[in-house]
Amino acid sequence: MVPGIANLGNTCYFNTAVQCLAHCPGFVALMKSTEGKTSLVSQLKDVVGLLWESDTQGIMPRGLLGAVKESIPSLYIHEENDIQEFLVLLIDRLNTAMKCDPPQFDEEAATTKPWERLKAKVDAAWHQSHAKDYSPLVDMFHGQSISQVVCGNCGKIFHNYEPFTTLCVPLGADTVAGCLERYLDHEHVNAEGEDACWKCDACKQSPKSLKSTKFWRLPDVLMLVVKRFTPTLQKNHARLGVDRVLNVRKYSLGPSPHNTYDLCAIACHSGSYGSGHYHAICRRPGNKWYVVDDTNVNAVPAPESSRNGYVFFYQRRRGS
Ligand SMILES: [Zn+2]
Repeated sequence: MVPGIANLGNTCYFNTAVQCLAHCPGFVALMKSTEGKTSLVSQLKDVVGLLWESDTQGIMPRGLLGAVKESIPSLYIHEENDIQEFLVLLIDRLNTAMKCDPPQFDEEAATTKPWERLKAKVDAAWHQSHAKDYSPLVDMFHGQSISQVVCGNCGKIFHNYEPFTTLCVPLGADTVAGCLERYLDHEHVNAEGEDACWKCDACKQSPKSLKSTKFWRLPDVLMLVVKRFTPTLQKNHARLGVDRVLNVRKYSLGPSPHNTYDLCAIACHSGSYGSGHYHAICRRPGNKWYVVDDTNVNAVPAPESSRNGYVFFYQRRRGS
């Protein structure tokens, strides 16, 4: 069984986030090996450790909640919070607390080959955005995507690359992998009937042009957020097939050699926006799955589909 975590007043988002992170094997290993120099890191390290001790009955997370409150003063900790926003803030604060020297980065020598020039630019951008605030969490939770627009008029190719922590994928497919494919798929910018939002720097026109997005750098823990909430905060309860293995090789362009991920946890949101409840579905060794709803824990079959899965946590397989 998984030890539950007591709800200390609207803290189901917090409990669920902690449970999901504590079931990503890479994160567990990192917490185990880290020293816990700040209160936030040491409290989280303790809770993650307790979740894997066989005799833990249930966890009272007062110390960790206090440390989170201190680290994220803008967070109303006992109010309903969006778990995705909370995860991004928590990972950011952990990153600052665990800061260390970044890996050595050597500017690549000037080259005229387009691919190598692109690679040098994308890698330099990655290094720049993380050089000042580097910790092992960067490679664990952050990725870099690259999008390509081919001008529909002159054919010139433009690249744009950006870092991501959680990846928000649209609904409209049957499975989680289908939603990811929709996110990365080819789409048109300046399509018919839309206002032109892109202008070609080469020919100064705004033609209908093809855009595609790929992964350049993959994180060890990939967090896919399914866009269940519309801008007007309506919720979409569509049932989604759950991919327990996800291979992203065909979406990868960059240097990441390992492309297979295993599902390790799902943060689920039930109810509507503002009056909902979070619970986690977590995988334990031996492919055993549990629904963890604060202190209520039940063994369940491996998830096949979900109407309330909101954030899907995937751990990258090494050597695949
Ligand atoms: Zn053009």
